Amino acid sequence: MREAFELRDADAAGRIGELEIPRAGVTVETPALLPVVNPNLQTIPPADLAETFGAEILITNSYIIHSNEELRERALEVGLHDMLGFDGAIMTDSGSFQLAEYGEITVTTEEILEFQHEIGSDVGTPVDVPTPPDADRERAEEELEQTQERLEIAEGIDVGDMLVSAPVQGSTFGDLRESAARHAYGTDLDVFPIGAVVPLMNDYRYGDMVDVVAAAKRGLGRDAPVHLFGAGHPMMFALAVAMGCDLFDSAAYALYARDGRYLTVRGTEHLDDLDYLPCSCPVCTEHDAESLRDLDEEARETALARHNLHVTFAEMRRIKAAIRGGDLLELVEERARAHPAMLDGYRALLEYADWLEEDDPASKGTFFYTSSESARRPEVRRHHDRLDRLAVPDELLLTEGPHVDRFETSWRLVPPFGPVPRHLSTTYPLNAEVPSRTDSAAIEAAAEGVNRLAEANPGTDFAVAHRGWPDHVLAELSEDVESIDLDAMG
Ligand SMILES: [Zn+2]
Repeated sequence: MREAFELRDADAAGRIGELEIPRAGVTVETPALLPVVNPNLQTIPPADLAETFGAEILITNSYIIHSNEELRERALEVGLHDMLGFDGAIMTDSGSFQLAEYGEITVTTEEILEFQHEIGSDVGTPVDVPTPPDADRERAEEELEQTQERLEIAEGIDVGDMLVSAPVQGSTFGDLRESAARHAYGTDLDVFPIGAVVPLMNDYRYGDMVDVVAAAKRGLGRDAPVHLFGAGHPMMFALAVAMGCDLFDSAAYALYARDGRYLTVRGTEHLDDLDYLPCSCPVCTEHDAESLRDLDEEARETALARHNLHVTFAEMRRIKAAIRGGDLLELVEERARAHPAMLDGYRALLEYADWLEEDDPASKGTFFYTSSESARRPEVRRHHDRLDRLAVPDELLLTEGPHVDRFETSWRLVPPFGPVPRHLSTTYPLNAEVPSRTDSAAIEAAAEGVNRLAEANPGTDFAVAHRGWPDHVLAELSEDVESIDLDAMG
C-alpha cells in the first residue's frame, strides 16, 4: 500500500482520496486541480489561486526556471514557495514538454530532479520521453525504454521527502501503456502521470483517451494516485474521474483567456460570439458579455482567466459531490450529451463495465436511467452476474405488468435489469428510476438478463410477459422461454 494516498469514497472507478504531500506539510483532497503557473507570467497570482479558488496544489515548470538565470538564482535563493507566494503544495514539471516540442533539452534527469529538490519542490518529475499518439511501434518501444531507464535513475536519487512522479508513456498502444504502468508502479516513486494525452484531447479523441487511461489503470494498483497530464478542460473531468484519474492540471484557464476563449462544462465559447454569459461566477455576475468585451486587453484576459478558473473548480466540486452521492455516472452521461466526441468517450468507458464494476460500491443513491447508454452501466452488468446465483422455482413468470393466473410464482421484469425477484426489488440498483417510455437498449439488456437466468436454470420453465417487446428482441430470447404479449391480451 502506498502510504501517501488514502482512498475515501468511490463511484464507478472514480474516488475521493487524500494525498499526503509530506514536504509541503499539506494533505490534498483528490480529485484535485493543479493550476499551471508560468514562472514568467502570472495571469492570476498564486496566493489568489489559494484564497479565492481554494487551490491546494499547483504546478510550475522547473525547466523554465532552470533555463532562465534570473529565475534560477532567485528560486535557489528564496525557494519556490516564496518566489511564487504560495503556501500549498507545489509540483514541478521537468521539461519533458519542451523535449517533445523542440526535440532536445539541456538537462539530465539527475540534474533536474536535484534542482527541483534544491528549490523546494514538493513533487518532482524526471525527464520522461512523451511519445505522441499513433507513433510507430518501434519508436514507442524505444522511447518507453528511455523513460523507464530515467525512472530507475530517479529512484536512486536522494531527494529527501519530495515525492517524485513516474510518468506512464506508450503512445496509443494499450499493451505498452499497461506494461509501462506496471513498471512505474513497481518502482518506489509516488505519483503516476499518464503522459502525452494532450494531442488526443486537442483532437477530441475522447474514446481513444479512455482506452489509453484504461490500459494504464490495468497496470497500476488501486492505491496509485493518477495524474492525467495536461488535462485542463472541465468538460471532460467527470469522464476522466470516472476512469480513476485523481489529478488534473490546467494551463487552459490562462491560455484560453489569452485567446478570448470562455470555458464552460459543455465546451468552449469565444467571447466575441457570446450575447449572454451562461455562468453565475463573480466575473459573470459583475459583467455582461458586452462589458467584458469592452475591458482593456489585460483586464479582459484576467477576467476571462478568473471565470475559467471558477468554472473549472466548480466542476471539480460537483464531481466530488457526485462521487459522495453515488451519481457520478449520471453526471458523466449529462456531460456526454454536450458533444458527440464526449459521447464516444462515455461509450468507450462503458466497454469497461466489468472493470468499473470491481470498484463500484454495491449500494449508492438511486440509479437513474437517463439515456440508452445507461443500459450498459456496470450496475446492470452486476445484476446480470447475480442472476446466475439466485434460487428459482420449477416454473416462473417474469412480468412487466400483472401476474398471469396460470403461473404459481412471478417476478418483476424491469428493463434494463431483466428479472427482479420480489425480495430484491427495493434494493439498489433495482429501485431504479426508469422512464415509462422505455427504449430498445433497455429492453435488449432485460432480455439478456432473462437469458442469463434461463441458462443458469435449465430445469425451470420460464415465461416472459412483456409490453410489446419488438420482434428482434423476442427472437433473441432462449428457445425454451415462452413469451406472452401483455398489450395483445388487452
Ligand atoms: Zn463566469
